[in-house]
Amino acid sequence: MEKVLVIGAGGQLGRELVAALRSKYGQEQVIASDIKPWEDSHLDAPYVKLNAMDEKALFEVVNSHEITEIYHLAAILSAKGEMDPLFAWDLNMKSLLNILELGKEHVKKVFWPSSIAVFGPDTPKDQTPQHTLMNPTTVYGISKLAGERWCEYYHQHYGVDVRSLRYPGLIGYKTLPGGGTTDYAVDIYYKAVQQEKFDCFLSENMKLPMMYMDDAVKATLDLMMADAEKLSVRSSYNINAISFSPREIYESIRKHYSNFEVSYTPDYREKIADSWPNSIDDTVARTDWGWKPAFDLEEMSDEIIWHLTDMLESVKSSNEMQRNSDS
Ligand code: NAD
Repeated sequence: MEKVLVIGAGGQLGRELVAALRSKYGQEQVIASDIKPWEDSHLDAPYVKLNAMDEKALFEVVNSHEITEIYHLAAILSAKGEMDPLFAWDLNMKSLLNILELGKEHVKKVFWPSSIAVFGPDTPKDQTPQHTLMNPTTVYGISKLAGERWCEYYHQHYGVDVRSLRYPGLIGYKTLPGGGTTDYAVDIYYKAVQQEKFDCFLSENMKLPMMYMDDAVKATLDLMMADAEKLSVRSSYNINAISFSPREIYESIRKHYSNFEVSYTPDYREKIADSWPNSIDDTVARTDWGWKPAFDLEEMSDEIIWHLTDMLESVKSSNEMQRNSDS
């Protein structure tokens, strides 16, 4: 039976991945961990407060819980990384190397996410191939590209079974995002459901590759379950789902909220977005391990708006009950 450690579990992807892994392997088999104290993580036990840069603490957790698989999600994301480039580099690289070292003999399998941020302005923008010119311009992209090279190195030199995906912008409704350039595509749904105006930090036609969280979780589990012999890529796989611009997501939301209003005030994130592809060619992932996304833009909007409306109504009625019991 696998015993799984998820690092950075309190983030946007981590909370959903932990839930999926626990329904697959059982609650006790999946240890959630984050640098945040447990009470801020919104996660159930088993939980360990852990700094992924602390190799000794990491080894102790892996050893004492007899961990067989690690999902290493902790990172500083693209927009936040530009605020403190040296810290972003330190965290993103040091933590990955700690995990890869554990992969040499202590754990059987490692998952580490890369990103479309590995691509840069010289990369072909449409249907960006698996192997192409990269030249990222953000510290986040540089750290992810270096990380990909390390993953391949550890696989080739030490036989580490490390697997990776170049996620596009991830869109979920359960957790607020952690400082990426595609965060607007989460925030816009919250504003629409709360019937507020939305000011977008990207320009209206800035098209980027995106993916609904359920598809991202499914891709991660499918890759981790795939036969090792079928995997031809040990740096990181391109995966594609949907590509859209702020204008297109706005139009999809307007089908639910016809009065919804959006303005556009591009900031420093526009330049980051402009250096990334419009769409991704994921033929290699489809061929090697059968990757196929389930959600298009309309299905994603229907689903997110339905869930957020439901969440908002529950909050309203529990506030009302509280007020009634107080009075
Ligand atoms: P997030 O910022 O929401 O979550 C990251 C988590 O890591 C946070 O809970 C944070 O507290 C934790 N963390 C930070 N420093 C830590 C440390 N030293 N030790 C342990 N935990 C630490 O990020 P996310 O959106 O969930 O992204 C998860 C992974 O997926 C990251 O590696 C990111 O680069 C990658 N990714 C995300 C997206 C996206 O759109 N969200 C796109 C491409 C790739």
